[in-house]
Amino acid sequence: MAVPITPISVGDVVRLKKAHPCGANEWEVTKLGMDIGLACHGCGRKVRLERYEFDRRFRGWIVRVSEAEAEERVAEKPDGQPDAAEKDAGTDGR
Ligand SMILES: [Zn+2]
Repeated sequence: MAVPITPISVGDVVRLKKAHPCGANEWEVTKLGMDIGLACHGCGRKVRLERYEFDRRFRGWIVRVSEAEAEERVAEKPDGQPDAAEKDAGTDGR
């Protein structure tokens, strides 16, 4: 009740109170629900915050999908970038 619910949507990029240890403080919203799924823009790490925690830590938008769509389409990366380089058939033999 003390903390207002932040009207975010999937694809929004937000700033939180605390930066990630990797140094970035940009989080892309990947999932909504009881938990908010966030992906770090610095290192690609995915975390989940309880809705309540998210609202407490939320500081502001960097990209807001709903507004961006109204003004102009900012199609940067619709999907998360692959974080772990998956080696395919590089080092196989031995
Ligand atoms: Zn990070």
